[in-house]
Amino acid sequence: MTKSTSFVLFASGNANKTNEIRNLLDDGLHISDLNEMGFEGELKEEGMTLEENAISKAEQALKIFDVDACFAEDTGLEVEALNGAPGVFSARFAGPENDPTANIQKLLELLDGQSNRNARFRTVIAYLSNTQKVTFEGIVNGKIASVPSGKNGFGYDPVFIPEGYKKTFGELPVSVKDEISHRARAFRKFIEFLKK
Ligand code: IMP
Repeated sequence: MTKSTSFVLFASGNANKTNEIRNLLDDGLHISDLNEMGFEGELKEEGMTLEENAISKAEQALKIFDVDACFAEDTGLEVEALNGAPGVFSARFAGPENDPTANIQKLLELLDGQSNRNARFRTVIAYLSNTQKVTFEGIVNGKIASVPSGKNGFGYDPVFIPEGYKKTFGELPVSVKDEISHRARAFRKFIEFLKK
């Protein structure tokens, strides 16, 4: 890999996340990701917090690729009635396969009969360079639906109803998620930082 200043490396192989982040860019900055870099492995996520995982993924990517800087993110769904679970364990909530259907099913079973459906998505972005380590947080509050609806987005989107709306992220137009999501909010803070 060669050094370049014309792009910022996003230490993620999740094409859904890269697409969401690229949709938010209005200038010439190019976001490259692990797929574009031809990386077929998986970065470890062994931290106990979103912050630890985001920083660790960025550190791993800096070691693997010959770049001056990169950023990574970690996202969790935090459910009030479950004391913040699944949180940092959102991906493997129902098992090691990171199966979104199984994760949603487990979540709905745990919330069966529960009137408190309050939840939030929280994203932490970590930006690392040779001289800097900075994190940015984005949150969207909402509620967990009683059944999954819609095919937009990914992960828990079919059961997450953002505050101020009656439909899930799975049903709402992609443009709404791009505007109000946890990832969009964290990423906009990050872009402001980069511009400075
Ligand atoms: P991670 O950040 O890739 O570790 O994702 C944690 C879990 O949350 C995975 O199951 C993802 O599918 C899910 N997830 C991450 N971001 C979103 C999102 O924007 N909407 C719905 N689910 C998400």
